Order: sequence, then C-alpha cells, then structure tokens
Amino acid sequence: MHSREEVIIGNQAIARGLVEAGLEIAAAYPGTPSSEILPGVVYFRNMEGLKIHTEWSTNELCAFEVAFGAAAYGGARAACFMKQVGLNVAFPALLRSRERSIEGGLVIVSCDDPGPQSSQTEQDTRLIAALFGIPVFDPSSPSEAADVAYHALNWSFENKVPVIIRSTHRVSHARESVPLYDPGARKAAFREGHVAGRGRKLGIVASGMSSSLVYDVIEELGASEEVSLYKVLKVYPVDEALGRFVDSMERVLVLEETDQVIEALIGDVNKVMGRRDGTVPSAGEITYDIVRDILSRVLAGAGSGKGPFVPDGAIEEALSRVAVVPRPPKLCAGCPHRASFFAMQYLWPDAIYPGDIGCYTLGISQGAVDTCLDMGAGVTLAEGFYDAFDQDGKLVPILASIGDSTFLHACMAPLYDAVKNRKRFILVIMDNSTTAMTGMQPTPQTGVTVDGVRTRSVAIEDIVKGLGVNYLRIIDPYDVPAMIRTIGEAFDRLKEEPLPAVIIARRECLLLVKGAAKDAAYPVEIERDCIGCKSCLKTLDCLAMSFDEAAKKIRIDDSLCTNCGICYYACPVQPQGKALKAEKKADRPGAAAPGNR
Ligand code: SF4
Ligand code: SF4
Repeated sequence: MHSREEVIIGNQAIARGLVEAGLEIAAAYPGTPSSEILPGVVYFRNMEGLKIHTEWSTNELCAFEVAFGAAAYGGARAACFMKQVGLNVAFPALLRSRERSIEGGLVIVSCDDPGPQSSQTEQDTRLIAALFGIPVFDPSSPSEAADVAYHALNWSFENKVPVIIRSTHRVSHARESVPLYDPGARKAAFREGHVAGRGRKLGIVASGMSSSLVYDVIEELGASEEVSLYKVLKVYPVDEALGRFVDSMERVLVLEETDQVIEALIGDVNKVMGRRDGTVPSAGEITYDIVRDILSRVLAGAGSGKGPFVPDGAIEEALSRVAVVPRPPKLCAGCPHRASFFAMQYLWPDAIYPGDIGCYTLGISQGAVDTCLDMGAGVTLAEGFYDAFDQDGKLVPILASIGDSTFLHACMAPLYDAVKNRKRFILVIMDNSTTAMTGMQPTPQTGVTVDGVRTRSVAIEDIVKGLGVNYLRIIDPYDVPAMIRTIGEAFDRLKEEPLPAVIIARRECLLLVKGAAKDAAYPVEIERDCIGCKSCLKTLDCLAMSFDEAAKKIRIDDSLCTNCGICYYACPVQPQGKALKAEKKADRPGAAAPGNR
C-alpha cells in the first residue's frame, strides 16, 4: 500500500516514479515542457533522504552521454530528461546506444509539444523511437506517468536496453493526486488494451493524452454501445493484442499526438482512419473539442450515433461577453533584450537578423529577428548569409542574436568556425545570467548546480576571446546610446578585419532580480507629452504600453511598467529620443552601411 499522496504535475510524477525505482544518476538540459523533472528528482531525493547524483548539463547531448555512460558502462540506474527538439541534439549518441547492451538501467524522458506551444516545431519522439527500435511508453496522465517511470527503469535494468518515456505538455503539466510509495514498493497498475466500450462498428485506438480525452468523449456522446477504445501505452513494440482488436472491428479510428506512429504500425489503409486520410487534422494538438467533433462526425457518417454534436453554447456565450485583450507572447515589460533589439533596429532597420531559441526569439515583433532554426543557428546562419553576400563583394550588416545559455549550449563551435573562416558579422550575446524561458535554471556562467551548490563558473567573454575574436565589448543594454554606438563601431571594425565582432549585452533578467529596475520615476512624461505617432509601439512593443484610441495617446500600465526608461529613447518628442535622432544624423560609426567593399 502507498503511504501517502501528493498533488503534483506530470513531470514531478515522472521524477517520483524514477526515484522510487532506485534512480542513481540524473542529468538534463531544461526545455519546456520537460524542465520540472530534474528539480522533481532533487525534491523527492531530499524528501526520502536518498543518494542520487543530479546535474544540469550544458546541452542535451551532454545529459544523454552522462546518463548513458553511468548506465551502460557503470551499471547504474540512470536517466536523462529533455524536450523533443533536445532529443535531436542527443541523437548521435542515442542512435549508437541502442546497439549495445547496457549494464544498468537507462530511461530517456523526451517531452513533446503538440501544437507546438513553446517550440519551433512539433516533433513526435515516438516516431524516432519506433524508427530505431527503442521501446517507448506514452503515458496518459500524471499518475500513470509515475507508474510508467517506475516500470520503465526497472524494465530497462532487467532487459539491458534503453527505454524512452514520451510525455506531452498536457501530461507533463497536468496536476493530479499521485500516490507516493516507499522506494522499491510501487504497485504499478497499467490500463492498456481494450479499456472501454462494447461496440464493434468503430474501434478507436488512442495513446497518451488523446486516450484520456476519448474516455470522456465516449461518455458525453453516449457512444459506448457503438464504439470500443483500445488504449496503447507501450507504443513500440506494440502489443500483439492490438492486431486482434483491429481485426475484430469494422472500421478503426486512430487518435494520437503528434504524428502517424500507431497508424503506421497498424498499416491497414482500407480500415484505418486517422491523420493519413484527413479524418484527423494532419498536425497540431488533439484537443477535447477536436476528439468530440471527429467522433460525432465519424459516427454520423456511419449512420449511427446521435448525429453531429451540437454544443449547448452556454460557455461560449459566457466567454464572448468577457472582454479579453488578445495578448500574443511578448518580452516582459522592462526586459533588457527589448533594449538590445531596439538599438539593433534603430541603427539598421534593414539589416539581416539571424535569431536563435530562447526568450529573445520574441525580438521578432521588433523586427530584429528574421530566423529561428535551432539552438546555435543564430551564429551559423549569419556565417551563411555573410558568404552569400560576400560572393557579390557586398558587406551588409548582419546582426545575429543569441542568449547566454544558448551560447554555451551550441554556439562555441560555430563561433570558432566563423573566426577560422574569416566571417564578418556582429554577434550580440544577450546575457541575462539565467535560462529564463524555461524557468530560471542556472547557466554554466553562474557555476551553480541544480542543488544550489556553487562550483566552477565560466565567463563568456573569456571563451569569446579564447576562440580568437578581437572585437569584444560588454555593454549594459539599458544604455541605449552606448549600445547603438557600439553596434556601429563593431560594423566599422568588420570593414577592417575579417573576423566576427561580438557584443555582450549584459543585464540580469528582471525575473531574477524581481523587477529591480523600478527605481526611477514612473514615466508620466510619456503619457503627458504623447502626440500619438505610435512609433514606440512599433519599435519597442512594450507589454506595459497600449494605445488609447479615444485620447489618441499612449497609456502605460503602472502595474506592469518597471521604469526601465527605454521608451524615452523610442519617443521622438522626448529629449532622449531627440538626442538619438540628432546623433544618427551625425557621422556616427556604421552610419554609412550597407555598402560595397
Ligand atoms: S513614440 Fe512617443 S509620441 Fe509616439 S506614440 Fe509613443 S509615446 Fe506617443
Ligand atoms: S519604462 Fe517604458 S519601456 Fe520600460 S517598462 Fe515602462 S513603459 Fe515599458
């Protein structure tokens, strides 16, 4: 019997299951929706007084190899955690790992992001696992995730092969009361196979969160006499019983996120409906509404069911009366990145802006991020852009932007490439001293471990210099005039020296210092003097600013404004904005760009 329960999210449940299964080594690189697993291991390790080594790695390949080394050669029970696109970084080692038997046990948790909600792309970890013959589990709830984690580590240890757990953001971040067992005592209870309904006309095969939704939809539609649900927990290798279930049904509907994995494994194109034939949308999250619409449509098409589902509309009607201002993702009010992007754009509105992955990808709304490919590509794409223009004898401003954690994750080799191959572009490293987008995990620059222990830190400027960069400046991005001048000076340096120029824009994330910028007077002048030109909205896109259409003036939300003062530079009627404009007209470094060499 379990001794207690705790309301926890799916990622903490995965951590709990692994800790109970005797986990000894855990490594991870943060990435939504996986970031809470490693802190969960630390939490439960401390709760149980166990000895488990935990570490934030510099990237996912490091995390995988630490866990693999410990498990394959050291005989330990190990695990590593990452998001779905992080698995790509670990891929070379993952691929080789399946070729050898391991001494201990190894669980790789890769969290997918159907939608995607906080990734550059959807990607189905199950597809990679199935393609390369790695067993993969797809839990449907936090409590099942705890059981799966416990079972997976034990199963890996007994069978001497790595195992993948694929979670999705709905499972990882859902909250549920999960039983906690003493280490080694969990009674993992799986519900897999034919789990609901008695019908033979339509068999629904579903996994992960989709299977949880189907339960409820069958009940809401009153369709349990017409359909049957087969829940898949272990997606690869799939259980033989699935084949018998499919054979026993007239038609089969597959509901899974995000790719066609189970559908491909079943393979019967005449009988199976799903993403391949368009019954299910070809991409994106499968929400409750989508499941309900598909199921009622399929049943109506087969001449059964109660016809197309008609919602009672009460909730939609109530929601339509709530005035919610649309709020696309934006940098926080007072974010230092906003000041950097403003300076970059101010000097060269038409420059090429290779971007990267992190909070600062949101610089797209300021027109200062043109690309977002993968971690590190901010630097290498800049190299490619330089080559393309260089062939035509042109030196155009190329301003790449990356974060401090991303620099250490994936940009050191690309920056050395750029030095070695004599590429001319400006790299702005936006150093806010944390991994902000994924939950403020410490970067190697802080030298702080996941346990809060201070060890050895590294300085980005030392690395940049060590890689052979000559032009390096460290600027506070809140000092907008200095930032603009430095970017111009860096471009002038490119004309003389065939090397990248690096500017470290260094100011701590506001979340880290808890909004410490709020020490100046509330910018009342901005509201008072506003002439309604909207220039600040276009160039700053500050969360605290909105336009009052009736008054034809900017309004500043005092509850959000941090008094960073950047808007004074963006406003042509404020002294700071006027001074910038005057300086731009003068012969400032870089002002003559772009041009031919
Ligand atoms: S830039 Fe200045 S004048 Fe123009 S809308 Fe913004 S606050 Fe008003
Ligand atoms: S001072 Fe201006 S730019 Fe800074 S947070 Fe307030 S409104 Fe936004």
